[in-house]
Amino acid sequence: MKAEIHPKFHTTKVICTTCGNEFETGSTIEEIRVDTCSNCHPFYTGKQTHKSADGRVERFNKRYGIDEEENEGA
Ligand SMILES: [Zn+2]
Repeated sequence: MKAEIHPKFHTTKVICTTCGNEFETGSTIEEIRVDTCSNCHPFYTGKQTHKSADGRVERFNKRYGIDEEENEGA
């Protein structure tokens, strides 16, 4: 390898702005901020936190008498 032509490789701190989780990876930049991570993303947690932001799903379920808990993860 030629010297002095490679960017510096850091141990990079990754910070999740949603849950505050921090973890380390390697990159050429020193810090990365992400909106979601494996600690708080619904895909990993199994919990849906952003559902029915405008209440449409809740209204629909209420109208047709659907119990939300029973349909969780369906
Ligand atoms: Zn997170």
